Amino acid sequence: MITTTHTTSSRSRIEWLFLGLFLPTTFLFYLVYKYPQWLLPEHGDLRTFYLFGKSPGFWYATLYTGLVAAVCVWVLIGNKNRYQRSKKKDPLTPYQRAKFLSILLAQTVGFYIVPFILPALSQEGGFWNDPPKVATKAAHVYVYPAFQSAGLAVYLFVVIPVAVWFFGKRYCSWFCSCGNLAEAVGVLPWGAKWVRLYTPRGTTAKKLEVLQTVILLFALFYGAMLLLDGVRLFTAPSLLQSLQAIQDLLIDFLFGAVVGVGAYPLLGTRIWCRYGCPLAKGMQLVGKFTRSRYAVVPNDKCRGLGLCTQVCPMGIDVASFAHKDKKPIQIAFGLDTTPCIGCGGCIDVCPVDALSFREIRPGTLAVVSSE
Ligand code: SF4
Ligand code: SF4
Ligand code: SF4
Repeated sequence: MITTTHTTSSRSRIEWLFLGLFLPTTFLFYLVYKYPQWLLPEHGDLRTFYLFGKSPGFWYATLYTGLVAAVCVWVLIGNKNRYQRSKKKDPLTPYQRAKFLSILLAQTVGFYIVPFILPALSQEGGFWNDPPKVATKAAHVYVYPAFQSAGLAVYLFVVIPVAVWFFGKRYCSWFCSCGNLAEAVGVLPWGAKWVRLYTPRGTTAKKLEVLQTVILLFALFYGAMLLLDGVRLFTAPSLLQSLQAIQDLLIDFLFGAVVGVGAYPLLGTRIWCRYGCPLAKGMQLVGKFTRSRYAVVPNDKCRGLGLCTQVCPMGIDVASFAHKDKKPIQIAFGLDTTPCIGCGGCIDVCPVDALSFREIRPGTLAVVSSE
């Protein structure tokens, strides 16, 4: 059963107003950004949607990075534990300080200055004169680009798996551009509420995670077809074009963009990361089979308050690892049984410090299924 904990009075009028504007705006914006040609007459000028000579992609990245950076600075300077529910909050933990610093640097340097600012400084016509082009829909999270680029292949099939072995799926909460927005919004007052009240939980919600496996298989199949096409062993342009259209329209545009971001207020901040992103499923499988050594570990202080489950953006029933009928049990969990991204929210929210990240060594603690 899918469960959420919202009530009809969970939203204020201003939030309803925001909702009414946010969803259509998100859809329209991504339409202009990803498929501008749909809105133009045949051979229409793609620059119709440019503002001050800059493309929708640039303005999107500017807004996105600005929001993420502003939240990070607010968290770092405010020096408060944003996961705690009480008004009087403890100072930011060293883990969260490092995480938000990492997000700030990754987003501003890795996902903004390097791809958008530096190339534009040397482009023909000057900084305020972007050339006409349709947005690329080949983000590395879709995995298949690794079949087209040796550098990306090493990144996705070597660097990330090694990182998973050492750090679990922290890539998702410390570095990835999609995850950066989710982490930033997740500590804002509305965002924290959306995670708490609207993240799908329960057995059906967990079973639906199989969708992510289907998308990973699709990405690998598409990648294999590209590879075979590249070496001319097997060429089927129409099949390739169909796969690309499916990827672009259904996975990138509708799921990754419109639902992935537009549904934040309806389903929490990690719907795409939990049900869509093929890279995340790949990381989880690597973590499961290489026995990623990091896990969330309860101690004997748990009082069964359940706040940890409420704060988890990935819908993990954290409390079920920490207590049974309010009596502490100590069952560690990591990527072998859950899609945990190592955000640390459950650890920070617990008022009795019953959870921590720990390195698991064989024989130290039981690791069992959450079923
Ligand atoms: S799940 Fe995928 S999209 Fe989400 S943060 Fe991780 S790698 Fe990025
Ligand atoms: S671990 Fe902490 S937050 Fe979770 S149920 Fe136990 S006491 Fe509550
Ligand atoms: S289990 Fe804890 S650390 Fe893992 S994703 Fe959920 S809240 Fe974050």
